[in-house]
Amino acid sequence: MKRIPEMYGSLVFNDKVMREKLPKDIYKALRKTIENNTHLELDVANAVAVAMKEWAVENGATHFTHWFQPMTGFTAEKHDSFITPMEGGQVIMDFSGKELVKGEPDASSFPSGGLRATFEARGYTAWDPTSPAFIKDGSLYIPTAFCSYSGEALDKKTPLLRSMEALNKEAVKVLHLLGQTDVTGVTTTVGPEQEYFLVDKELYKQRKDLIFTGRTLLGAMPPKGQEMEDHYFGSLKPRVAAYMHDLDEELWKLGIPAKTKHNEVAPAQHELAPVFDTTNVAVDHNQLTMEIMKKVADKHGLTCLLHEKPFAGINGSGKHNNWSMSTNTGMNLLDPGRTPAENTQFLVFLMAVIKAVDEYADLLRLSVASAGNDHRLGANEAPPAIISVFLGDELTDVLDSIENDTFFGKHAKVQMDIGASVLPHFFKDNTDRNRTSPFAFTGNKFEFRSLGSSLSVSGPNIVLNTAVAESLKQFYSILKDVTPQDMETAVHDLVKDTILKHKKVIFNGNGYSDEWVVEAEKRGLPNLKSTPEALPRFIAPKNIKLFTDHQIFTETEIHSRYEILLENYCKTLHIEAKTLLEMVRKDFLPALMKYTDTITASMAAKKQVLGLSCDVEGKLVTKLSGYYADIYELIEKLDADTITAEGMTDFLEEATYYHEIIIPTMEMIRNVADTAEELIPDDILPYPTYTKLLFSV
Ligand code: ADP
Ligand code: MG
Repeated sequence: MKRIPEMYGSLVFNDKVMREKLPKDIYKALRKTIENNTHLELDVANAVAVAMKEWAVENGATHFTHWFQPMTGFTAEKHDSFITPMEGGQVIMDFSGKELVKGEPDASSFPSGGLRATFEARGYTAWDPTSPAFIKDGSLYIPTAFCSYSGEALDKKTPLLRSMEALNKEAVKVLHLLGQTDVTGVTTTVGPEQEYFLVDKELYKQRKDLIFTGRTLLGAMPPKGQEMEDHYFGSLKPRVAAYMHDLDEELWKLGIPAKTKHNEVAPAQHELAPVFDTTNVAVDHNQLTMEIMKKVADKHGLTCLLHEKPFAGINGSGKHNNWSMSTNTGMNLLDPGRTPAENTQFLVFLMAVIKAVDEYADLLRLSVASAGNDHRLGANEAPPAIISVFLGDELTDVLDSIENDTFFGKHAKVQMDIGASVLPHFFKDNTDRNRTSPFAFTGNKFEFRSLGSSLSVSGPNIVLNTAVAESLKQFYSILKDVTPQDMETAVHDLVKDTILKHKKVIFNGNGYSDEWVVEAEKRGLPNLKSTPEALPRFIAPKNIKLFTDHQIFTETEIHSRYEILLENYCKTLHIEAKTLLEMVRKDFLPALMKYTDTITASMAAKKQVLGLSCDVEGKLVTKLSGYYADIYELIEKLDADTITAEGMTDFLEEATYYHEIIIPTMEMIRNVADTAEELIPDDILPYPTYTKLLFSV
């Protein structure tokens, strides 16, 4: 086995390989493109293509693919071989700059939200040199953006890159005002912590609900759930440890810096966290991580569940989006720093984030909205649907003192700057963690905790980057004419003013409590409880203005995405309803009937042959028959409701109908079925129980 440092990134066309394989001038030109987003000349592209192909072929690749992220939330790929036929029946392995830079997949079946009429259905893919190419399964993977011929974004990468650029532009301008004139670039960084479940593959295959919907639609609670909290950070079972070991290696080869792994709160639940990277690379890596998690699980006779709520009554899975901004000179802009000047700068960027979260809380909320995540948010296992910011006591104290022009020093680590500065001086905040907050400051970064486990982290970061870019843009216009000697006072006033306007979004208390829901409403914070409630905010005029001002989305793109999101929600629930109908009609009710028949038959024998009373069996049969009748009636209703939903033409109306009518019926069916399940022997049940699924690995 290779040593880890050699294995790490061995399948990536990274900087080291580029330096080795590319002529010096070509390498320099490519670096310039990567770092400054400049246009790549065709002769450079040609030279890069040749080097990439040689490296890929040396490493066993026969094909290349433009890898992209359509609006499905998954990644897409279409493979072409390097083979070019020559005279005499021979072939050469060929790859041109044109093929590297632009692809034309006939990818007309991806959702476009009406952006592409079928006659102009073709989109094209464009190389994104800021995310390194890699080899997987014998193909060279080239990360690309996916657009329509008229230039509209059809994917999740294009707007993300646009949002990073918007933030870069505004942040650099503000930094220059604050005296950081050597900074030429600011990039956002992300470290996504990924939760997942592992179940036995053979058991998985016996559950139609897991196969079709990723979650169980039926299933009574096992005698033991997560109440003992013995799984969290518990020792790894050998099969899980072997899986994680393999997973780490596969990820490391692809240059994905998997760093920590541990058991999570729920039985069979685990987590993986990488070291953070620039947002674009982190998003690509997270997509790959999810894919490889599933692939490696398969090899180990396991199935990896990335659904937000695979098991009712057991914690679901989320994804924590750790986020910060850093300069090309190596500064983390959310690090409070050590000197008063660093503190000042930190406060400006901190306030930019707080303002952004307050003003665009609805967008942040909808960026994590999905049918799966609706099961988690506000269910006392994940943050509420109300978006608020946790700062911790120390920072809150600092902001209080600015707001009230008071000295402060409640906390030992906090110091007042005794110089002329009008802003307080403090050191890195190390306060407690608050697990109930959706958006928490954690010392030198923010952690956005509302994301669902299966979500592409692209969307939330697009919102975050753009909203913070908007705050910074406004800060710049306030500060741009201030002279350097007045800057400190001006910043102080700006910070104070921002605190006054936006402190309503700061909340350090228990986000799971009922009091917070009441309090948040008093403060005027939005509480968008479900996906159909959240999504329409996408097309609210203030949000369209934000995205169009910063050129992240055109208004047409926003409408198309809104439609895709709604449609996706409806489709997900449609599949769930149909799956439940099938499972109950074809499997569960017959099993219930079979058990009832068995008892009735034995009752008859007992009575006839032995003349014994069958009171107890009679009670059981009555119970089971009652459940049968209840379920039967509810299933008829679900069937009829599903047909009604199918007939709807307005997606919002349909989504709302699913949320308000169909989901409650599905839950009622489940409640009765789960109660009945507890009475039915395992060998008659048509699917493996929660006990088996959660405790057999
Ligand atoms: P913990 O939350 O257990 O204290 P860390 O603070 O080390 O762990 O980080 C959790 C996640 O946050 C990791 O994925 C880490 O890489 C990421 N992270 C750390 N610093 C930053 C940063 N500046 N920007 C984005 N993500 C970061
Ligand atoms: Mg975390």
